[in-house]
Amino acid sequence: MTLAAGAHFLSPNVYVHVFDGDRPGPTALIQAGIHGDEVAGVHALAELLEDGYRPHRGRLIVCPVMNAGAYRARQRSRPGGLDLNRCFPGSADAAEPEYRLARRFMDLVEAERPALVATLHESHKRYDPAVTPSFGQTLVYGVDPMPPLVQAVVDSLNAELADDAERWATQYYPVATSSTELIVEAIGCIGICVETWMGFAENRRVEMQRRVVELMLQQVGVRDQPSP
Ligand SMILES: [Zn+2]
Repeated sequence: MTLAAGAHFLSPNVYVHVFDGDRPGPTALIQAGIHGDEVAGVHALAELLEDGYRPHRGRLIVCPVMNAGAYRARQRSRPGGLDLNRCFPGSADAAEPEYRLARRFMDLVEAERPALVATLHESHKRYDPAVTPSFGQTLVYGVDPMPPLVQAVVDSLNAELADDAERWATQYYPVATSSTELIVEAIGCIGICVETWMGFAENRRVEMQRRVVELMLQQVGVRDQPSP
């Protein structure tokens, strides 16, 4: 069963906001803070919520702080905890809260069946095709062929760079145990990890994350494209 519009709790301090557009359309799910030291996406979603950001069509689900304990500690995982991004599909009965939370998130995804699931990450290492792994300034996907949305968003970003150092790339990097890939496999959605490079100032990274969210939502049809 899908959720009613409004706020819902996956755990006492992990919540999702569900917004419905005025017109029918697809569902998109945007999540940040699965790694607590990657703050730009968390703050980008907080700003969008504060600004009253809404879908024009379909449904937008926003999970601004997926791993609250990790975010509080500004660490990848909660102190003493597990990497939440490696705990999917999770388990309702597990002792570890990460497995239980992962299961609640999977239940949400399986009920809502979003067309797009995007997770906002950050990386200390700027992407260099010669260096594996390196992720900064890429949209990462794990299925071949690449969903056309991924290239379209990267092209739009690169058409409006503030500085050439910000140039974006697509990156095919399947990780069979990551949450994104398990979700893609479970429901057949487009799954994207957005990775800003932490070499930039935090306020610029937040702006970039906001822009990527807007472009992804335009491409999937949840937000209107600007009229030319
Ligand atoms: Zn991450």
